[in-house]
Amino acid sequence: MNNTEQTLSIIKPDAVERNLENEIKQMFKDKGFQIIREKKIQIEKSEAESFYKVHETKPFYNDLCAYLSSGPIVVMVLEKENAVVGNRELMGATNPKDALDGTIRKKYGISIDKNSVHGSDSPENAKIEINFFFKD
Ligand code: UDP
Ligand code: MG
Repeated sequence: MNNTEQTLSIIKPDAVERNLENEIKQMFKDKGFQIIREKKIQIEKSEAESFYKVHETKPFYNDLCAYLSSGPIVVMVLEKENAVVGNRELMGATNPKDALDGTIRKKYGISIDKNSVHGSDSPENAKIEINFFFKD
């Protein structure tokens, strides 16, 4: 059964700062993802707070929002069969220390907070997150 999906991916400030944008995009393309939309932006802390609202009770929430808004990010809509879970697999575990070989976070992640990429965690959240950054 065909299940073409879209998911939201963000290349976070630590990776943009290290000029890893093209390498990371190539990893997506090598796995068969199409980059449907993309833009490089810097967001306000208030926008990061809104984007990460599900985490507002977590101890790391403030630092996370400060970090995501600390520098340019690349926001992308990725499309592929089962894109949401496929992107989570390619990203690897939240903590790069736990990420498997061949994943983006294993290759490029610095620490649990500077872990280079964001990816939607469910098809429902993918729709919400895509709409957050690409409203039209
Ligand atoms: N995060 C953190 N400390 C933690 C857990 C998470 O700084 O103990 C950050 C990390 O950058 C992570 C983001 O918060 O990517 C969102 O957390 P989530 O559990 O949703 O992880 P993800 O979906 O990004 O793997
Ligand atoms: Mg998450």
